[in-house]
Amino acid sequence: MNIERGTMSDERFKRYEPVLRFIKRVADAEGVVVNLVRLHDHKAGSCGVDAEADMEEYSIDLCGAWDRATALHEIAHLVVIDNATRHHTRAWAVKVMELNEKYLPAARAERANRRIALDHNKARHLYRQRTGKRIPRNVANIAW
Ligand SMILES: [Zn+2]
Ligand SMILES: [Zn+2]
Repeated sequence: MNIERGTMSDERFKRYEPVLRFIKRVADAEGVVVNLVRLHDHKAGSCGVDAEADMEEYSIDLCGAWDRATALHEIAHLVVIDNATRHHTRAWAVKVMELNEKYLPAARAERANRRIALDHNKARHLYRQRTGKRIPRNVANIAW
């Protein structure tokens, strides 16, 4: 797994080290290729994303995001290579919820899965299957 950090200072790079170790550990355990993690060295979020996976180069970009739930979101994209125009498919939602439950402490996994169900209406029933809890339909959320 190559790391590209541009002109990022050592001090700033240190913040990413734990999530980089985490990505490597999960990728190895899941048998998924992560060729490259690109850390943006500009102001966090200034390019419009906090994180992104590229399913052609098997890379992950991180722009100020060093939390594990975000890393698992992106890793799930590389496990489930879905349709280029519809990244957040049902298969992706199933995989990311599985990864959250496997690699995050229980309470954090549930919070992360709840977030996914809130952001993607079609994932609400998956959350309900796993927890027995209902998620209200969110009309303002991201369409699949
Ligand atoms: Zn950026
Ligand atoms: Zn995504």
